[in-house]
Amino acid sequence: MADFCLRCGRALKNKSSIKRGYGPGCYKKINREEKKDKESQVDVNKEERIEIEGQIFIDELEERRSMRKIS
Ligand SMILES: [Zn+2]
Repeated sequence: MADFCLRCGRALKNKSSIKRGYGPGCYKKINREEKKDKESQVDVNKEERIEIEGQIFIDELEERRSMRKIS
């Protein structure tokens, strides 16, 4: 509960904004920023996993190739 927006400090005019503590514009921006943070974290995890799998795959391929050359 706040009479002023916690993000930009402007006076809140409607009840739902006062309940949230943010004006409608700031509330949308905050929601988007939170979503972006979560999405970017997931993306980083995915990229890391793919990179590791690819490295393992390439290592295995090269190991097989070198074993064929030797034998
Ligand atoms: Zn605001």
